[in-house]
Amino acid sequence: MDKAQGNNLDPWYSHYAERTAGLSASEVRALFAVASRPEVVSLAGGMPFVSALPQELVLTAVERTVRDHGAVALQYGSGQGSPRLREQILEVMALEGIHAGVDDVVVTTGSQHALELVSKLFLDPGDVVIAEGPSYVTALVVFRSFQADVAHVEMDELGLVPQSLRDTIARLREQGRTIKFLYTIPSFQNPMGVTLSWERRMEVLEIARENDILVVEDNPYGLLYFDQAPPQAMRSVDEDGVIYLGTFSKTLAPGLRVGWAVAPHAIREKLILANEAAVLSPSSFAQTVISEYLSTADWKGQINTFRDVYRERRDAMLGALNEQLPTLSWTVPNGGFYIWLTLPNNMDSKAMLPRAVKELVAYTPGTAFFADGNGRNAMRLSFCYPSPDFIREGIRRLAIVINGEMSL
Ligand code: PMP
Repeated sequence: MDKAQGNNLDPWYSHYAERTAGLSASEVRALFAVASRPEVVSLAGGMPFVSALPQELVLTAVERTVRDHGAVALQYGSGQGSPRLREQILEVMALEGIHAGVDDVVVTTGSQHALELVSKLFLDPGDVVIAEGPSYVTALVVFRSFQADVAHVEMDELGLVPQSLRDTIARLREQGRTIKFLYTIPSFQNPMGVTLSWERRMEVLEIARENDILVVEDNPYGLLYFDQAPPQAMRSVDEDGVIYLGTFSKTLAPGLRVGWAVAPHAIREKLILANEAAVLSPSSFAQTVISEYLSTADWKGQINTFRDVYRERRDAMLGALNEQLPTLSWTVPNGGFYIWLTLPNNMDSKAMLPRAVKELVAYTPGTAFFADGNGRNAMRLSFCYPSPDFIREGIRRLAIVINGEMSL
C-alpha cells in the first residue's frame, strides 16, 4: 500500500502505519489556502457565523465558570462528561423528540471525535461502512483511516433512497463483505442540504433492523430549520439500533469543541472507555462554559437568531442562482448550511476550481464527498458564513466561470 501518499521527502515515510494511507491532503487544500484571502468569496467551508452570537452571553458564561466553578472547570473530569451538562443535553435532544437518561449520554470533543470513537470501536480493515452518496467529507476520512471501505447509497430530494440501501446491502452480502454500520445525516444533509422524510426514516430503520446493521445518526443541523422542523430524529423511535451524535458546534460555537453521543447501553460503556483512552476526559472548562450558557442565556432564542441569519443567506443564494444560473439545477434546503449544485454532465467542477479562484470565488468540488470518484459535475455551495451581499456577488462570479465553461 502507498503510505502517506506522495510525501517521499519525509525521512519517516517507511515507518508510518498502513492506516495513514488514507490521510493524504486533499488536492484542493492548497487552493483553499488561496481562497481564504479576504477578496475571495468563499462558498467552500462550513464555518458557522459565530458573530451572530452576542459576546456578552459568552463572557457571562466564561466569567461564571471561572468565578463560581473554577475548581471543577480547571480540573480533569468524568470520561463520560459532566453530569450537569449531560442533564442539559437531554433538554436539547427533547426538542427533536429524543428521550434518554442522563447515563445514556457520552460527551465528546465535538461530534467529529464521536465519529472517530465509533469507528475505533467497530471498524477493522476491510469492513464496509454504508454512507449516503455524497456524504460528509471528514467522516469519510475517518472511515478510511480505519481502513474501512465506504459503499454509497443513492440520494434524491427526500434523502437516501431506501431501495438503493436494500440493493447495496444485498450486493455487499453477495460479495461476502462485512457491513458494520450505516452512517447517515438525515436532516439538512452535508453536503446536499436535503432531509430524509419520516416515512423513509422508518423504512431505513426497518431495513437496518432486518439486516442487523447499526445506524449512526449524525445530526448537527436538525435545530437549524428555516420553516418547519424536520421529522423527529431516528433515535426517537429506536433506542437499540441507533447511535445518535449531537454537537454544540452549530447551535452555539464550534470553538468550544463539545459534542455528544447517545448509544445503546453496551456500546456506551465501550465509548466511555475509548473516550478515556483518547482524552481522559472531555474539556471540563468548555463543558462548564456551555452549562453556564445554557442555564443563564436564552439559548432557544439564540437558535432562532441563527435560523434567521441562515434563512436570509439561503434566500440570497437561491435568489442569485435563479437569476444567474437559471438553466442549472440545485437542491432547496429547509435548514442547515448547504446547497448542492449540479452542472451539465460533461463538466468537471474540480478542474474548474482554479478558474473560479482566479475569478475570486471558491466552492467545494462534488468529488470530495464521494469515496468512489463520483460527483464530478456537482459542487457544494455553503451559505453559512458570507453575508447575503457577498453570497450574491459570489454567485455572480461563479456564473461567469460556469457560463464561460458551458460556451466552450
Ligand atoms: N458531522 C457533520 C455532518 C458535520 O457537518 C460536521 C461539521 N462540519 C461534523 C460532524 C463535526 O462537527 P463537530 O466536530 O464540530 O461537532
